[in-house]
Amino acid sequence: MKALAEPVGTGSVVWEQAVADLWEAGRSARLGDDTIEMLAKPRRSVEVAIPVRTTRAGLRTYEGWRVQHSLTRGPGKGGVRLHPAASLEETKALAMRMTWKCALLDVPYGGAKGAIRCDPAELEDVDRERLIRRYANEIAPVIGPERDILAPDLNTSELDMAWIMDTYAVAAGVNGRGAVTGKPVLIGGAAVRGDATGYGVAKCVVASAQQLGLRTPVRAAVAGMGNVGRAAARTLAEEEGFRITGISDVGGARVAPSFDIGAVLASLEAGAGVADLDDGEPIERDELLTSDCDVLIPAATSNVINEANAPRVRARLIVEGANGPVSGEAESILAAAGVEVVPDLIANGGGVVASHLEALAALQFSGEPASAAFDLVGRRLLSTLAETRAQATELDSSLRHAALMLAVGRVAAAHQLRGLYP
Ligand code: NAD
Repeated sequence: MKALAEPVGTGSVVWEQAVADLWEAGRSARLGDDTIEMLAKPRRSVEVAIPVRTTRAGLRTYEGWRVQHSLTRGPGKGGVRLHPAASLEETKALAMRMTWKCALLDVPYGGAKGAIRCDPAELEDVDRERLIRRYANEIAPVIGPERDILAPDLNTSELDMAWIMDTYAVAAGVNGRGAVTGKPVLIGGAAVRGDATGYGVAKCVVASAQQLGLRTPVRAAVAGMGNVGRAAARTLAEEEGFRITGISDVGGARVAPSFDIGAVLASLEAGAGVADLDDGEPIERDELLTSDCDVLIPAATSNVINEANAPRVRARLIVEGANGPVSGEAESILAAAGVEVVPDLIANGGGVVASHLEALAALQFSGEPASAAFDLVGRRLLSTLAETRAQATELDSSLRHAALMLAVGRVAAAHQLRGLYP
C-alpha cells in the first residue's frame, strides 16, 4: 500500500486550477470557447454511498466517486484512492489530468479517477475488503475494459485491484482481467508496472541532460525514495552512469559524493529510512531540494519546490517524478534562472504506458516480456518529450504549457472527428 504521498483535501482549489490551466492551453491551441467549455465538464461523475458493516464501529456509510472526465479517445483510465479528505472536486481534477496525460502520450484512453473518503488507517483488513468490494459493485455498471479501467493510487494496492477485478467479474458475469491494471502478476498483472514510472523518469532525465549538455558524470538528487524515486535512482546509477548525490524520504535526507545505490536500496527495501542509513552526511530533509547537484528529481509530494525555495535551487534540470511538485510561482522563478522543468504529464507517464500494455495483455490473454515493455515505455516518453520540446520552442513557452496544449488540442480534434450526438 502506498504511503500518503500527496497532500489532498484542497479539492475545489485543485479543480479551479485544472480548469484555469485548460482555458489557457485551449486558447493557445486556438480552440473556441464553446469547445473549451465542453472539455471543462466531466463526461460523467458517479457518486456512491458505501455502507459497510465494520467489525468495531457497526454500520458505517462512506462516500465514494468515480469520475470519467473524457471517454472520447477511448475508455476511461485512472486510479482509485482512499483518503479522509477525498472529494468530488479533487477527483474531477485528477480525472481531467488523466485525460491530458493519455492524450499527450498517445495512450488510447480517456481520463478517469475514483476515490473513497475514509481513513485507511482506521480500517481492519476485513472492513477494507468489504469497503472496496461494495464500491466496485456500486460502480460496476460504468466500468470494464470497454468503459473505464481502474488502477491503484494513494493508499490502494494490488490486492485492492484483485478485489475490484473479482467483484466486477461476479457482477458482470465476465472474467474481469481487463477492468483493472496494477493487479497481482499471478492474475494478469504486468511485472513491468512497478518500476515503469521511475524508469521513464530516468529516461527523461538522461535525454534532457544530454540536450542541456550537462557535464558527465551527471549528479542527481532524488527527493522521495519511494516507488518512483527508487526505480529512477537505480536506472540512473546502474544503467546510465549517473552519480546519485542526494536522497530523501519523509523522515530525512542525506548527501554524498556518490551513493552506492545498490546498498542504499537494499537497506530501504529491508525497512530502513534514509535517516537510518550510514552512507553520506545527514541534512535537513528539505535542504536536499537546494543541494549542489545538476539534476533534481522531486518524487514525493506536490508543491515542494515553491516561491520560498525556488530562488535557491542549484540544479540546472528538474524532472517531475511526483505529480505537481513545482508550484506555478516556482516555475516562473526557475524559468527566469534558466532551469529547465520536465513536467509530470510526460515525466511520470511511464506508469500509464505500462498499464496500457497490461490491459492489452488482459484482453489477449497474453503478456509482453518485461524487457520489451521497458523499451516501449522509454521510446514513448522520449518521442513525447521531443515533440513537446519542438512545440515549446515554436511557442517560446515552457514544456508544461506546450504539453498541455498538445494534449488538449488532441482531445478536441478527436471530439471534432466523432461529432456530436444527436
Ligand atoms: P510512495 O508512497 O512509494 O513514495 C513516496 C516517498 O516519498 C516515500 O519514500 C516517502 O517517505 C517520501 N516522502 C513523503 N513526503 C516527503 C517529503 N516531503 N520529502 C521527501 N520525501 C517525502 O509513492 P510513489 O508511488 O513513489 O509516488 C510518488 C509520487 O509520484 C506521487 O506524487 C504519485 O502520485 C506520483 N506518481 C506515481 C506513479 C506510480 O506509478 N507509482 C505514477 C505517476 C505518478
